[in-house]
Amino acid sequence: MVKKAKNPLKIDYKNGIIEDRLLQIRNFKDVNTPKLITVWSIEIEPRDSKKVIDRLIRNDFQINDPVSLKHLKRIRKNVESSTLEVVLCSKEYIYDKDEIDQKLKSAWASAEKYEVKGVIEVPEFAPSTKELNSAWSAKYWPLIWNGNPNDQILNDYKIDMREVRDELARASAMSTKMAAAGQRFPIVSVFVDPSRQKAKVVAEDGRNYAGSLPIDHSVMVGIRTVGERLKEDADADADAYLCLDYDVYLTHEPCSMCSMALIHSRVRRVVFLSQMERTGCLKITSGDGYCMNDNKLLNSKYEGFQWVGEEYPVGAVDRDVCC
Ligand SMILES: [Zn+2]
Repeated sequence: MVKKAKNPLKIDYKNGIIEDRLLQIRNFKDVNTPKLITVWSIEIEPRDSKKVIDRLIRNDFQINDPVSLKHLKRIRKNVESSTLEVVLCSKEYIYDKDEIDQKLKSAWASAEKYEVKGVIEVPEFAPSTKELNSAWSAKYWPLIWNGNPNDQILNDYKIDMREVRDELARASAMSTKMAAAGQRFPIVSVFVDPSRQKAKVVAEDGRNYAGSLPIDHSVMVGIRTVGERLKEDADADADAYLCLDYDVYLTHEPCSMCSMALIHSRVRRVVFLSQMERTGCLKITSGDGYCMNDNKLLNSKYEGFQWVGEEYPVGAVDRDVCC
């Protein structure tokens, strides 16, 4: 994690734009709807708080809990009973109440002092604004405001701008050439493998050619080509995801089939040039606003960006065509 000031990339945090060109594509509708997780809590007398914090939280839960609870205040006061309620750990870390009671007992090294109070629901992540942070704190559990979590996400992207420019230029040149030749689907995708050692897979849309299938969109052709290459590679793991951690450069925003296929094949990142307002499936303003790359209903995500500069023109595609 680099410090914001040391990031070599120029980042416009407010608008989510990197180097004045790459617009981050995320589903901010989801970000600001709390996804709740279950945590164990306990009610204690104030004089015992140090024991709970030192023996249980610092020594065990903070280290071993797979769920980060750093955005939560650990303790809240119960004014009426003048006790404290403490968040212990996620239910993902400890599922059984008996097990957690056992930990409590051994922390006190004496007979039963406290029993875990029960489970409560808290937001899994902090929201993007201070206002929502206050609202969620009042509704669920006090949260710590550390700024918009998306700032950290923007800051953590590793982007080689030269590669981005090179691959978009390559796709753009092919696409404009295809359009000039009268092709109806001047759609191109470039697949770059994570090691940067293999040849890039450059895929034209198959629908320009006789004998193709209606589903031979450029992305589908590209994924298939990567798959064929994997078959020829004797060292390859047959169960591996087809495009694990690949970066994919596209002339046009992908349709629902292609953006879903990119989820299944586990790419790391998609950068596209031209938005497809009716048929695209990444931007919230495209199609049904499904935001396929960042949808909480799906079990994986990929980074999404649109190039917002004018440098790389693409061949025109009918607005109702799925790319
Ligand atoms: Zn498609």
